[in-house]
Amino acid sequence: MLKTYTYRSLQESDIQRLITRNTDPSRSIQQSVMAIMDEVRTNGDNALRMYAEKFDGVQLTDLALGSSDIAALASTIGREQQRALEIAFANIHRFHETQLRKERTVETMPGVTCWREPRPIERVGLYIPGGSAVLPSTLLMLGVPARIAGCREIVICSPPQADGRINGYIAYCLQLLKIETIYLTGGAQAIAAMAYGTDTIPKVDKIFGPGNQYVTKAKSLAQSLTNVSIDMPAGPSEVLVIADGTANPAYVAADLLAQAEHGADSQAILVSTDQHLVDEVQTALAAQLTQLPRADVASKSIANSYALLCENLEEAMAFSNRYAPEHLIIETDTWEPLVRKVSNAGSVFIGHLTPESAGDYASGTNHTLPTSGYARSYSGVSVDAFVKKITFQHITAEGLRNIGPTVEVLAELEGLQAHKNAVSVRMG
Ligand code: NAD
Repeated sequence: MLKTYTYRSLQESDIQRLITRNTDPSRSIQQSVMAIMDEVRTNGDNALRMYAEKFDGVQLTDLALGSSDIAALASTIGREQQRALEIAFANIHRFHETQLRKERTVETMPGVTCWREPRPIERVGLYIPGGSAVLPSTLLMLGVPARIAGCREIVICSPPQADGRINGYIAYCLQLLKIETIYLTGGAQAIAAMAYGTDTIPKVDKIFGPGNQYVTKAKSLAQSLTNVSIDMPAGPSEVLVIADGTANPAYVAADLLAQAEHGADSQAILVSTDQHLVDEVQTALAAQLTQLPRADVASKSIANSYALLCENLEEAMAFSNRYAPEHLIIETDTWEPLVRKVSNAGSVFIGHLTPESAGDYASGTNHTLPTSGYARSYSGVSVDAFVKKITFQHITAEGLRNIGPTVEVLAELEGLQAHKNAVSVRMG
C-alpha cells in the first residue's frame, strides 16, 4: 500500500527525493533510444519494420493504412462508443476553438504600428500511444487543436496492434478528424521517423504526444539532434490528490488508481491533513484494487507512490507546487482559497465531484500535459502549440520621424553603422 511520510519530519534532501521522478540515472534508456534513432536515420522503413517485429511482435508489409482500411475498421465499433467519441470530440472542439484569439494592434508611437498574427505550423506529427493501452482519446486531444490551428499536414504514428492494424476506435477518431492515413510505428522509432523522414513517413516540423520513457527521451533527442521541435516532455502519467477530512475515501482511492493503472512508472500521490482519511484511503485502495483488470500494473505503481501528512492545507499546497504534478485534484469543501495558491500544475480538478477521468476524456480540456516536474515551466497542449505567432509592423513617414532618431542613437552606441544607415537613408 502507500508508504506514508510526515511533511514536518522531512529533511530538504527527503523532499528532493520525493519530488524527483523518471530520471534514467544509468542513461540506459538514452542509450537504447540513441541506437534506435540512428538505425531509423540510416535504414528508414526497413528499420521501422524490424522494430515492429521486435517490440510489437508483428511483421508488417505496409507501414501505412489508408482511408479504405480506416473506414472498414471504423465500421466495426458500436453506436454507443461512436456517440461517446463524438461527444468528446465536440467538447474538446468547443473548449479549444476559443484559444485562437486575434490580438490587438498597438501603435507604440504615432505612425509606428505593431501586431502579432498566428500562422499554423505546416507539418505536425502526432504520436498516439498504443503499448500497454491504445488511447483514441489522445488522438482527439492532439488532432482537434491541430485542425483548429489549420495545420496543412497531420502525420499520425501509433504502434501496430497484434493483428498488424489499429483498433476501430482510433479509426473512428481519424474519420472524425478527416485524416486519411495512419502510420504503423511506435516508440522511439516513430519519433525518429517523424524527425528524419523515411520513404513512407514524412518529416514534420513539430512532434506532439505523450508516451512511455522511450518516446519521451526520443522526443528530447530529436529536438536536440534535428531541426524538429516538440510540444513538451509528456512522459509517464502522474496525479497528486490534496484531500482533507471532508473528502470521500472511496473517491480519493478511485482517483489514485485511475492514474496507477496507466503503468508501473506512473505516480499517484496523496497529500492529506487527516491521518484518519489516509487510513481509510488505504483500506479503499486495497478493496478497489482487487476489482481492477489491470491490478498488477496498478499495484506496482502504488508501490512506487506515497502519502504525505501535512499540518494544514497551505502546507499541502506548498508541497504540491514543489512536486508540480501533471494532474492536481483538490478534494476539500473549502477549495476556493487553495485554487488561488496553485502555481505549478498541468491541469487542476476541483471539488469532490470532478474526477480527473472527466478531463482525460471528454470535459473539453486537453490531457496531453507536462510530467516529471515540467509543469513548473511548460503548459499542456493547446491550439497555441500548433501555431507560430508572427510579429508584423508598419511605419509611416510620421512614424519614421518619431522612431528614427532613437534607432540611430541605439545603432551608433552598439557600433552598428549599417543599422543606423538603414534609418538615415530613409530620413533624408
Ligand atoms: P507507448 O506507445 O508510449 O510505447 C510503446 C512502444 O514502446 C512500443 O511500440 C515499443 O516500440 C516501445 N518499447 C517498449 N519497450 C521497449 C524497450 N525495451 N526498448 C525500446 N523501446 C521499447 O505506450 P505505453 O508503453 O503504453 O506508454 C504510454 C505512456 O503514455 C504511459 O506511460 C502513460 O502514462 C503515458 N501518457 C501520458 C500522458 C501525458 O499527457 N503525459 C497522456 C496519456 C498517456
